[in-house]
Amino acid sequence: MTGVTVRVPAKLNLQLAVGPPRADGYHDLVTVFHAVSLFDEITAEPAGRDGVTVTGEGADRVPANRDNLALRAVAALRKAVTGAAGLGGVHITIAKRIPVAAGLAGGSADAAATLLACNELWGSGVSQARLLEIAARVGSDVAFALLGGTAVGRGRGERLTPALAPATQYQWVLAFADGHLSTPEVYAALDRLRAAEGAGGAGVPAEPDLDAALMSALRSGDARMVGRTLSNDLQPAALSLFPALRKTLASGLELGALGALVSGSGPTCVFLAASADRALDLAVSMSGAGVCRSVARVTGPVPGAAVLPRPR
Ligand code: ATP
Repeated sequence: MTGVTVRVPAKLNLQLAVGPPRADGYHDLVTVFHAVSLFDEITAEPAGRDGVTVTGEGADRVPANRDNLALRAVAALRKAVTGAAGLGGVHITIAKRIPVAAGLAGGSADAAATLLACNELWGSGVSQARLLEIAARVGSDVAFALLGGTAVGRGRGERLTPALAPATQYQWVLAFADGHLSTPEVYAALDRLRAAEGAGGAGVPAEPDLDAALMSALRSGDARMVGRTLSNDLQPAALSLFPALRKTLASGLELGALGALVSGSGPTCVFLAASADRALDLAVSMSGAGVCRSVARVTGPVPGAAVLPRPR
């Protein structure tokens, strides 16, 4: 038996609304996830014992032990199918193209891909609905990486509802930063900023609201309206920790982007372009402007994690 390879997309958050900190330290969210055409590939193969190898973009920043989210996914699926015979060890090889700690949920994507690959490798026949439940236990963005497309996430982002929208493909430019941001540190910075504003969280709605204007823009497939309604509550916190991103965002807007925002907890910046040609122009100009480490052109929405055909 050879291995199973799964391709899995990065995510953007077109809206990320963050409630006040809960008693357990987490924050309730309302977010609009959007899967884009920047993919990691993971291969699962039978092995004497569980292990992981990471190659590609940022591999040296990814733990090659049980802390790797892919191995947590192996453990979670194995636990869920206990009783099934012949579940041996598995070796996961991750080929990364999604930058690490960049606000694109690469680790969650790898975990989602691993769930799908092991389900196939072991022939466990776990349904998509059950895989989504297991995914939600592994991490808050993991379920969306299985689902893909555009979807509203609530709770910690794991309670998903696919967004009904026409088949519009949006053209995005991603500006990768020369540096990283830790998600917990960005949330802590947001709490500090809100406290300093005097609200101490009191002015922040306990249940953040889905942005009706963004949902209406997505339903109409109007890129200009989508560009105007992108929003991210974490952006001021990310900018406070990584001030150079202000220049990156301003530069993309000056160069004609329809909208710009920090992706998730950052530091990747995201720009919406009016067409594929405009996206190419924007990507070329941004890389020439020296306001980021590198750029990528991607489209969205794309489907979630998918098993690749085996090479003949
Ligand atoms: P978040 O999903 O919290 O927004 P992010 O997209 O900013 O995070 P990730 O690339 O998912 O960032 O990495 C977050 C951290 O998770 C990294 O610091 C890394 O050490 C750890 N990690 C564990 N497993 C993986 C993995 N398979 N790929 C990438 N990072 C991983």
